[in-house]
Amino acid sequence: MSDNPQPLGGNEMPRFGGITTFMRLPATSSPEDLDVAVVGVPFDIGTSNRPGARFGPRAIREESVLLRPYNMATRAAPFDSLRIDDTGDVPTNPYNLADSIGRITAHFEELLRHGLVTVAMGGDHTIVLPILRAMAAEHGPVGLVHIDAHTDINDTMFGEKIAHGTPFRRAVEEGLLDGPRVVQIGVRGTGYAADDFDWSREQGFRVVQVEECWHRSLDPLMAEVRDQLGAGPVYLSFDIDGLDPSFAPGTGTPEVAGLTTIQALEIIRGCRGLDLVGCDLVEVAPVYDASGATSLTAANMLYEMLCVLPGVVYRQ
Ligand code: MN
Ligand code: MN
Repeated sequence: MSDNPQPLGGNEMPRFGGITTFMRLPATSSPEDLDVAVVGVPFDIGTSNRPGARFGPRAIREESVLLRPYNMATRAAPFDSLRIDDTGDVPTNPYNLADSIGRITAHFEELLRHGLVTVAMGGDHTIVLPILRAMAAEHGPVGLVHIDAHTDINDTMFGEKIAHGTPFRRAVEEGLLDGPRVVQIGVRGTGYAADDFDWSREQGFRVVQVEECWHRSLDPLMAEVRDQLGAGPVYLSFDIDGLDPSFAPGTGTPEVAGLTTIQALEIIRGCRGLDLVGCDLVEVAPVYDASGATSLTAANMLYEMLCVLPGVVYRQ
């Protein structure tokens, strides 16, 4: 075992004990000492329907106590490879959306100044806009792997430019994304208009509607995605409602007939080799998650993201 920050093991402290940081990491590191920051963004005032994603980071941390450090499928050893810690939460302003957006950008800019990769726990999907602002300021326009039931490219919601259904439209307008290096996977359901998904395609995005994913492995898709996204910086944004509500009911705007948990693993594991500069997992709303399964799934997906970051060593 290296002297990197390590998750507290279940043989040192029972899994129902200890302080519930992500995977019970020590949460004592300074950004300058880290390669990767796991950071909570408790924010849900951009939500259009059921609120509650502000409680996502805490619930994900709670379910993450079950995770062990070594990936038995891919043999990734993220905590031996990289200095990873839970750096706590962004102090969002629960009374002011615009102020919260500014606070999130500033918080991520500060983390990125230290050369970190950030892995964010939302929060509703609004948070990806201020995060992408920080990413583009550091790295220039980024490619994007976006898993979601929704394209989140509305111009406005209830007349508002910034909400959880608009971040990728704003990101394009602000030049934060490299359009031909964007893929949206799992989109489905009902639209405000018949041409709802066309705006994405007009920006050069590849839009993979969920029907293309049904009944099949997504390994071949991800080989194409790796070719599409190439060598430049990539951001991975995973809205938990991309999964079917039978796997992930604890979210604000569920849509039926979604991705399976297995397909989500294939997507994340298929990102290995991309130059990931940041990731997020958003839209977990624990109050609709009676069993904790949504938060447990989210915690596992975040762990799998850690396993595909640049610099991770895979044991033989
Ligand atoms: Mn979304
Ligand atoms: Mn969504």
